Amino acid sequence: MSTTTPTDRPIPFLDGPPKELLIGGAWSAADSGRTFPSVNPSTGEVIAELAEGDATDVDRAIAAARAAFEGPWRTTRPVQRQALMLALADAVAADFEHLRLLEAVDMGLPVGRSPGAGADFAVQVLRYFAGWVTKIQGDTLPNSMPFPVLTYTLREPVGVVAAIIPWNSPISNVLWKLAPVLASGCTMVLKPAEQASLVAVRIAELVTEVGIPDGVVNVVTGFGSTVGAALTAHPDVDKVAFTGSTAVGQEIVRAAAGNLKRVTLELGGKSPDIVCADADLGRAVPGAAMGVFANSGQACCAGTRIYVERPIYQDFVDAAVELAGKLRVGHSLDPSTRIGPVVSEQQLERVTGYLDLGPAEGATAVAGGHRLTDGDLADGYFVAPTIFTDVTDDMRIAREEIFGPVACVMPFDTIDEVVARSNATSYGLAGGVWTRDVSTAHRLAQELRSGTVWVNTYNLFDPVVPFGGYRMSGWGHECGPDALDQYLNTKAVWIRTD
Ligand code: NAP
Ligand code: MG
Repeated sequence: MSTTTPTDRPIPFLDGPPKELLIGGAWSAADSGRTFPSVNPSTGEVIAELAEGDATDVDRAIAAARAAFEGPWRTTRPVQRQALMLALADAVAADFEHLRLLEAVDMGLPVGRSPGAGADFAVQVLRYFAGWVTKIQGDTLPNSMPFPVLTYTLREPVGVVAAIIPWNSPISNVLWKLAPVLASGCTMVLKPAEQASLVAVRIAELVTEVGIPDGVVNVVTGFGSTVGAALTAHPDVDKVAFTGSTAVGQEIVRAAAGNLKRVTLELGGKSPDIVCADADLGRAVPGAAMGVFANSGQACCAGTRIYVERPIYQDFVDAAVELAGKLRVGHSLDPSTRIGPVVSEQQLERVTGYLDLGPAEGATAVAGGHRLTDGDLADGYFVAPTIFTDVTDDMRIAREEIFGPVACVMPFDTIDEVVARSNATSYGLAGGVWTRDVSTAHRLAQELRSGTVWVNTYNLFDPVVPFGGYRMSGWGHECGPDALDQYLNTKAVWIRTD
């Protein structure tokens, strides 16, 4: 097991025995005693072992979360809860460079990615939801009863939350769930993705260090088919907050039916990005290209279907191909890397499967189209940024979520046509528009059927802005006041006063 990296940056957290489960404030091995490996996708090396939890550990974690919910957490005053969240935000910010290295070696996100992805941005979500803690309030309601009755509402936490997250952006994946849980007064059992659990374990250490009461946050590492399935079927879980694939989201809805637990889902997408003939190509080309290539395309909102108005189609393709060829693909710890590896060997096989499928369906790879194995990329899971042309909407590469650095660039002739083609998908997570015409911008913002539309930009996030999917991209929102509502119940109180 190696704790140094090709760029010789030691990560002490990786030393020592296997990472344990956090249950009721105590660290313990899995009941089964089993562990599973974490692999660095830049090198294929095993960098750590983690406890492989199962249904027995889930039972213990849910019992701890229930006890904390009924006990100390319920009586923690709002200002105390807020102070704990702000302390956690400070602790995450202080540890951010370390978390960033863990994220880089565990899932492959380049350390040198855009400056917007810094500590301030990551911890903002904790600070934003900390602000809400003292503002969760009900209403006094003017009823029309023929006798005097006081009616008012109380806003109460839903209870024990099972949070199940993917691997594609570990720091954000954890904090986007943790923040509204703590703000609302719920407790949680978190199950990170098996491919990238180290960040969740480190953030759990910070949770205990800042004094958040035992059992409020529990972490059970392990697999979806065991830990995930046990959580979603468990009768004592009040809500599942899930981010991941649409197929697993459907399984979760079925599993949740037993006790009708509340379910929110942030699922996949096949988002359109529309480049109009009047767009500023100097911005649209890098904007649309990085809208799909960033994080090696492993983003739920990746703008994978790029529709370009016919008069500028060839110019756009030529410029995008040139840009794709210049993007530096490399190890995640190399500061000059723009595009890291995909997360795992399995993901590599999935993506290269689509790279083979494209030409078989009649598409042409004008950039990339293959795995990269030159030099020190040989043992990692690297894919060349790929642009397919000669694509039609019915091809699988244009319909299915690839979750790799693969763009389909297609021409269009009219706005009506591109709206219809953009919306001809079962997903509805995001969409992009590049235009200088204010009417076109507003029209497309209204007509695209998706939870987010970005105009003359792409992939922007802020804790105040709700993020969620239409149709098969999900139920509910992350961020913004809408997200907090999903962790709260409304109780109506009637008091006859005569
Ligand atoms: P995934 O396969 O659906 O896994 C997501 C999580 O669910 C993992 O923790 C997984 O555990 C767990 N899981 C698997 N089977 C389960 C089951 N039967 N019951 C309960 N939990 C189960 O997704 P992924 O491959 O990790 O992530 C990629 C997908 O996430 C893409 O579709 C992407 O679009 C979506 N995503 C959406 C958003 C959004 O906000 N909309 C953000 C990021 C990603 P294991 O991995 O340990 O098996
Ligand atoms: Mg890993």
